[in-house]
Amino acid sequence: MTKRCYHQLPHFSTPTHIMNPADTDEGTPVSIKIRERIKAARKRFNANDNIAEFIQPGELDLLLDEVEAKMKGVLSSLVIDTDNDHNTDNTARRVAKMYLKEVFQGRYVSAPPITEFPNAEHLNELMIVGPITVRSACSHHFCPIIGKLWIGVLPNEHTNVIGLSKYARLAEWIMGRPQIQEEAVVQLADLIQQKTQPDGLAIVMEASHFCMAWRGVKDMDSKMINSVMRGSFLKDANLRREFLSLIPQKG
Ligand SMILES: [Zn+2]
Repeated sequence: MTKRCYHQLPHFSTPTHIMNPADTDEGTPVSIKIRERIKAARKRFNANDNIAEFIQPGELDLLLDEVEAKMKGVLSSLVIDTDNDHNTDNTARRVAKMYLKEVFQGRYVSAPPITEFPNAEHLNELMIVGPITVRSACSHHFCPIIGKLWIGVLPNEHTNVIGLSKYARLAEWIMGRPQIQEEAVVQLADLIQQKTQPDGLAIVMEASHFCMAWRGVKDMDSKMINSVMRGSFLKDANLRREFLSLIPQKG
């Protein structure tokens, strides 16, 4: 990727050293600058894409200020008196921080560092990790998605081994974005596949979507279950059955 420099030196063509606003990036919202870099690299920036490589040091804090200002506008359009209502006077800042640094952090920071080890013990037995608690929000309503996840791995001698807790960290990174559950399981499978190269990989996610409980059909009990099966889990029905039977009864 070619890096473009956005911090040009001021022009000294005028004796008074007054900068022409057109010559600088002053005043351009940081979100626009980041967006331009992504577009120049012809990359996608959907809600569940990670854009960390396009954010320069210090820009996340500028984004925070920008989102806060926009959130203030949303509260104002909701006709909430943030000047006099002490409950909401700092809500815009809190929401901006929650989105950028907490619940959607998986869009703005790079993947957690993970050390892969060669499979020295030649492990070749089915291994199941879970339940891992997953927290996200749906791309459609920005309502929470809370659930559980199980990962089945069938290693071979060429598979890289990663620590058990690392699966949870990878899941947290993928889920820390506005998500669509069926896309989230595929993103997570691709990531684990790429990091560990197992013989077979299976993922099952079961989650409650608050946009169904809080609004819409207001169904408190419905859950969505998604699975991804790869490699030997696709070819071997017995292995698939074994994995599914070892996952605690859902519901
Ligand atoms: Zn939704």
